[in-house]
Amino acid sequence: MPNTLKPSERLKIPRQNPLEQDPEVRRRNFEEVSLGFNEDLVLQEALRCIDCKEPLCIEGCPVRIDIPAFIKLVVDKDYLGAAQKIKEKDYLPAITGRVCPQESQCEAVCPIGKKHLPVAIGKIERFVADYERLHNMFNGSVVEQKRKERVAIVGSGPSGLTCAAELAKLGYNVTIFEALHAAGGVLRYGIPEFRLPKSILDAEIENVKKLGVELVPNFIIGRTATVDELMDELGFEAVFLGTGAGTPTFLNIPGENFPGVYSASEFLTRVNFMKGYRFPEYDTPVKLGRRVAVVGGGDTAMDAVRTAMRLGPDKAYLIYRRSKEEMPARDEEVHHAEQEGIEFHVLTNPVRIIAGENKWVKAIECVKMELGEPDADGRRRPIPISNSNFIMDVDTVIIAVGQRPNPILQATTPGLNMSKRGTVVVDGNGQTSREGVFAGGDLSRGGATVILAMEDGQRSAAAIHDYLKVKGQKAKAKEQSIPI
Ligand SMILES: Cc1cc2nc3c(=O)[nH]c(=O)nc-3n(C[C@H](O)[C@H](O)[C@H](O)COP(=O)(O)OP(=O)(O)OC[C@H]3O[C@@H](n4cnc5c(N)ncnc54)[C@H](O)[C@@H]3O)c2cc1C
Ligand code: SF4
Repeated sequence: MPNTLKPSERLKIPRQNPLEQDPEVRRRNFEEVSLGFNEDLVLQEALRCIDCKEPLCIEGCPVRIDIPAFIKLVVDKDYLGAAQKIKEKDYLPAITGRVCPQESQCEAVCPIGKKHLPVAIGKIERFVADYERLHNMFNGSVVEQKRKERVAIVGSGPSGLTCAAELAKLGYNVTIFEALHAAGGVLRYGIPEFRLPKSILDAEIENVKKLGVELVPNFIIGRTATVDELMDELGFEAVFLGTGAGTPTFLNIPGENFPGVYSASEFLTRVNFMKGYRFPEYDTPVKLGRRVAVVGGGDTAMDAVRTAMRLGPDKAYLIYRRSKEEMPARDEEVHHAEQEGIEFHVLTNPVRIIAGENKWVKAIECVKMELGEPDADGRRRPIPISNSNFIMDVDTVIIAVGQRPNPILQATTPGLNMSKRGTVVVDGNGQTSREGVFAGGDLSRGGATVILAMEDGQRSAAAIHDYLKVKGQKAKAKEQSIPI
């Protein structure tokens, strides 16, 4: 039987390659790029796990999925059992199996990676989650809302969805308030269809709703109601803030206001959320020139430049001020972008955007960079090389150099402490400076990752549970006049 293979035999199995759309075809379509493993591939890959006595992969996973246990279930072809095992810790596995930076988390610490390539944990997770969905076998059900306390979740990104799912599993009445008309946060309006199909996101959100979570769209906290109104007038005893970091930052160089310059968040929202790529069938146009330059080196930049390429320009360039090795984007996305014909201009930094007579962008002036000593975050600091300026002819520029939280919560929530970076300050449990108000995800971290946002949602759900238990005990003691 294959699952009786000795570790030495397992080590001989090479890492399996997932199926993918041909780069020449996919660079002009919005269908999913990675097609993941089929059953043969997943069974081969699962056999590569040696079921370590001290599985470092669990430590490497921010939400602590029992990775060897679910992989063992895959080897036994118990895919539904594997899905259940993952869902004990991660309620969005079809999403995390697609977008998590496994190469810097669970897979980075898998000891098989010392001599060979690590076990492809993410692709196995994706297979399991897809199997469950495609066979319509999700067996989650509404948990009896046995507790009377109501909890409000603000924002339906991965932090909010996770916090909501965990609290619903504990039997709380949970309501998510979402500013937009559809849930998912960056998973919906940022990450493109070719990396995370909306149908998969919809199915994962439905699973959260099946736990009994109520989702209220078009409800902006700070406008439709404030945090104080949620607690004092609408009867919520605790609040989790997971409103992300949706406000773009810019380079602050001359010419950034010319027509033809987009922020990546506007560009991606137009294409992904408003279905701009299907204009005029949908009524959001995305005006793009023949030569598009995207500035930045993270996942957002990579998504923007690959999205731009799919809209049909002659050239799509990526301009990044450090080298390729320093790019914060996932390795897989960098590799896919290169395969799709994106031209990388690294160690290059824009200094000015130039417009033509019609005021529309016609070029970008850049300077060449070199790397100096490491800065505070350990990455080598980029330094401009004098007299190295040059002009690139482009007619669209997309700026993807970071995002920060929208200031609306701070402005409307007295006593909510914020950092200088505009993020909400929290303690180790996600507790903010306001009693009963917790926060996590990009709102407290600045731009981070899906799984770290989920970790925060999970941690805050546990803290809210503790907080409400103590609050309930105090109220009971007061009622009975018992000192506690
Ligand atoms: C283009 C792009 C690509 C990315 N790719 C990856 C990737 O491949 N892998 C990865 O791990 N990470 C990736 N990230 C980062 C990741 O998506 C974020 O770290 C993550 O989504 C943060 O989750 P969150 O729950 O904190 O917030 P968000 O996902 O930002 O969700 C916040 C939600 O709150 C809502 N909201 C905001 N204000 C209010 C309000 N006042 N009232 C009510 N609702 C409100 C918003 O509409 C939104 O739905 C990417 C980010 C971007 C922008
Ligand atoms: S670290 Fe790698 S080999 Fe060890 S249990 Fe985890 S996935 Fe398997």
